[in-house]
Amino acid sequence: MKEIYETTAPQQTFALARQLAEQAVPGSVFCLDGDLGTGKTVFTQGFAAGLGIEGPVNSPTFTIICEYEEGRLPLYHFDVYRISDPEEMDEIGYEDYFFGRGVTMVEWASLIWELIPREAIRITIEKEPERGFDYRRITIDDRADCLGGRIAGF
Ligand code: ADP
Ligand code: MG
Repeated sequence: MKEIYETTAPQQTFALARQLAEQAVPGSVFCLDGDLGTGKTVFTQGFAAGLGIEGPVNSPTFTIICEYEEGRLPLYHFDVYRISDPEEMDEIGYEDYFFGRGVTMVEWASLIWELIPREAIRITIEKEPERGFDYRRITIDDRADCLGGRIAGF
């Protein structure tokens, strides 16, 4: 089932993701897609906060993966924008993360769609300029294991 959320400020996207993280279970993989500057990293920062991660979370653009261990569950934050061949993911050992005991968040997941597990939760962030500069539509797909239901307050 598809859930559609709308936000009009980065803080709202952050708060939405923070609430989503509270429902996250070990082994979940979240796929984030959307153009540059739509808010994938803002979303991940909120998600990290929801797991209780306090340190700064930035896009691991050059390192591909950043691991945060201090929260309720480990967070594995991928940004695969610079991956030119999915084989690079093998070299990183992505399977240990995707099928590990933590939660994985992948920015630009569609670039490595072959590697994304079928049960992954897909999130798309879109702008719609005629609705304002800070407007974002956030669509969450395939949340079959939906624990908490629709995220309240949005
Ligand atoms: P991405 O990781 O998708 O490239 P970022 O999260 O790095 O994008 O940047 C998103 C930018 O858009 C930030 O500068 C943020 O302040 C801004 N922004 C404006 N409105 C929103 C919103 N509703 N949700 C998320 N980010 C927003
Ligand atoms: Mg980013």
